[in-house]
Amino acid sequence: MKIYLKTYGCQMNERDSEALAGMLTARGHVIASCEEEADVMIFNTCSVRDQAERKAVGKVEFMKKYKQRNPALLIGIIGCMAERRGAELLADLPHVDFVLGTGKLHTLPDLVEKLASGRTRVAETGPNPDVLTGMGAHFRPEGAGGVLGQIAITRGCNRFCSYCIVPYVRGREISRAPEDILEEARTLTADGVREILLLGQNVAAYGLKGSTAAPAPEDSPFADLLAELAKISDLLRIRFTSPYPTYFNDRLIRTMAENPKICRNVHLPLQSGSDRILKLMNRQYTSDIYRSIVAKLRAVMPEITFSTDVIVGFPGETEEDFLMTRDLMNEVGFDQSFIFKYSPRPGARSAAEPDSVPQIVKEERDQILLADLAERTSLTMQELIGTRQEVLVEGVSRRMEDRWTGRTGGNRTVHFPPPGGCRPGELLTLRILKAGKVSLYGEAEQA
Ligand code: SF4
Repeated sequence: MKIYLKTYGCQMNERDSEALAGMLTARGHVIASCEEEADVMIFNTCSVRDQAERKAVGKVEFMKKYKQRNPALLIGIIGCMAERRGAELLADLPHVDFVLGTGKLHTLPDLVEKLASGRTRVAETGPNPDVLTGMGAHFRPEGAGGVLGQIAITRGCNRFCSYCIVPYVRGREISRAPEDILEEARTLTADGVREILLLGQNVAAYGLKGSTAAPAPEDSPFADLLAELAKISDLLRIRFTSPYPTYFNDRLIRTMAENPKICRNVHLPLQSGSDRILKLMNRQYTSDIYRSIVAKLRAVMPEITFSTDVIVGFPGETEEDFLMTRDLMNEVGFDQSFIFKYSPRPGARSAAEPDSVPQIVKEERDQILLADLAERTSLTMQELIGTRQEVLVEGVSRRMEDRWTGRTGGNRTVHFPPPGGCRPGELLTLRILKAGKVSLYGEAEQA
């Protein structure tokens, strides 16, 4: 069958879809490049924000016309919204054939084949002990695999931040076995991957068996896993996202510093710079603890860059709270920030509180932080002109045919004319000649 797979939301969802594509193609199915040619349409959804749900529902509604033209077409909704809304989606969208929650994604190939031969509408949700099954599958079409790979090392989350429904829709935290992850990394590397991004809702809690104690113990299995991965000779770079700030214990910081393959770029979700709001969010740190983690990382890796997530307009956020967030963001000097306007999610604890900050104020705060970020990024990029930067060569630039693209360990994109013999997957030192708003331009150093 030809299967069209559309993904919404975070990198974990992207990775789930890739694993599903790997499982489906291993059974002989084909991944369709567009909706028109599909026998089965699958929508892997996100539930983190109301807007993400509405976008997916709108798209699925639009697909009704395909079903009218081809009644044999199967349409399914999977992932976080499927888990949250379950059978209600079948009632609301009569042209949808199946709903499959996050705990049962690995049953998708069986389900699709069963429904294709005898049609009944089904909604399957709820926790599942086999949730890790199939997480190691990959979809790397021949010749298009690329040098970047992703490995999900945990599922679920135990932190219960008050605004977040991930622990409810993705379940409690569970880690994969280190030998499975190392084997997967070796297989990807043998297939040409040179940089691996480790994924998890709280990736640094890897191997802690669901313990919420933070900082993580000094014998952190996550630090051990990073050190073992760094021993794979053809693997040149390791990244990970997202670590909950307080899991950065001294051992993890030391392991990073000792292994130059672990990229000097950390996504460290801040959410708010106000201790009062952090407490209401059930985040287990204060602004000073956050500052001290940044300082410790910078002390041993001065070149490290940071990105973050921030929420504006959380219930009760005053102008003063917002200014604390703004000040802390400027103080840390993030390279990149994902700024979200708060929206209550049914089921999350904060949804019981009035959504007290007016939308217009959320918009204003969002714009202020975005403007700060643009100004800061522009200055940082300008300062890089004239420096030498090592990039991992990724291949031809998507924007300029005569340029190639690479990324620095600090996660900055650089475009450059490829020197003779240059190949994707190698490390190349570039001299930076020019800076744009979001990327740099350079040329290879003469040997
Ligand atoms: S750490 Fe908090 S924000 Fe992140 S997934 Fe877990 S509950 Fe949600």
